[in-house]
Amino acid sequence: MLGLTKVNERMKCLGLIGGMSWTSTISYYRRLNQLIAERLGGRHSARLLLYSVDFDAVERLQHAGRWDEAGELLADAARRLAAGGAEGIVLCTNTMHKVAGHIEAAVDLPLLHIADATGEAICAAGHRRVGLLGTSFTMEQPFYRQRLVDRFALDVLVPGEKDREMIHRVIFDELCRERIEPASRRAYQRIVAGLAENGAEAVILGCTEIALLIGPDDVSVPVFDTTELHVRAAVDFALGRTEPSRA
Ligand code: GLU
Repeated sequence: MLGLTKVNERMKCLGLIGGMSWTSTISYYRRLNQLIAERLGGRHSARLLLYSVDFDAVERLQHAGRWDEAGELLADAARRLAAGGAEGIVLCTNTMHKVAGHIEAAVDLPLLHIADATGEAICAAGHRRVGLLGTSFTMEQPFYRQRLVDRFALDVLVPGEKDREMIHRVIFDELCRERIEPASRRAYQRIVAGLAENGAEAVILGCTEIALLIGPDDVSVPVFDTTELHVRAAVDFALGRTEPSRA
């Protein structure tokens, strides 16, 4: 018989902070389980805890610029996951990595940073100049772009102001509500084509919902889907193949 200790040794328990938004947390849950099954075979599935927040509260704090309070909310979620036995934290959103420090200060667990998973994959593929799509916060503020520059020496291009506004609106008004609109897909395709014309060799889907709208077949440059890359990093961690460094 397989003892509990042996099961737990084989795969670490992931602590997911999700609900930002729930439409992308579903992708995390599905892909984590699919990849664990692929790697371990049979009926294996991911060991994980999920704390799913009420996104309305988070979104209000984001748009009011009250990031410390949003950070405290997520730190509280991380503490609950740690108390439940999580061995690593997966924050299922790019934007809220702005407050990664709050989480790291709250629990003595590794936070698997989504920008690191992304930067590593881009470097491994040999790209230097990449376009970035995400919320306005992710595209405009340094917490995400600067990490890609500092740690991976990437040159990060973002769309112009009007296009950034549109991308942000589509994320919050459509994708986070499970609305997939062909007109928005066409608009995103146009924007990616513009980034490629300006020299982007690839594009980062830097918001965990964007892969619900566009994928590799919709654009002419390679696509780096942060949800998928984050999931892969989390599976590597769960199976003991990597130890992320604490920033
Ligand atoms: N899921 C999104 C992201 O990856 C946007 C929602 C949020 O603001 O957390 O940035």
